[in-house]
Amino acid sequence: MAIVQQRRTSKTRKLKRRTHYKIKAPGMTVCPNCGEFKLSHRVCPTCGYYSGRLVKEIKVKEEKKD
Ligand SMILES: [Zn+2]
Repeated sequence: MAIVQQRRTSKTRKLKRRTHYKIKAPGMTVCPNCGEFKLSHRVCPTCGYYSGRLVKEIKVKEEKKD
């Protein structure tokens, strides 16, 4: 005997089930120092600041001199 699906899931039921599904960017906040998006509880990758102080210096690309 094969296992047979008893009832097809209706469109409404399917959509209601999927109301919990959503795309999210986890823990994204705006850096108070530079205003870029960063992960919360992490040092900002753009400016290297965390909780108002410089934690990590970000190397800025130097232009080549002739
Ligand atoms: Zn920043």
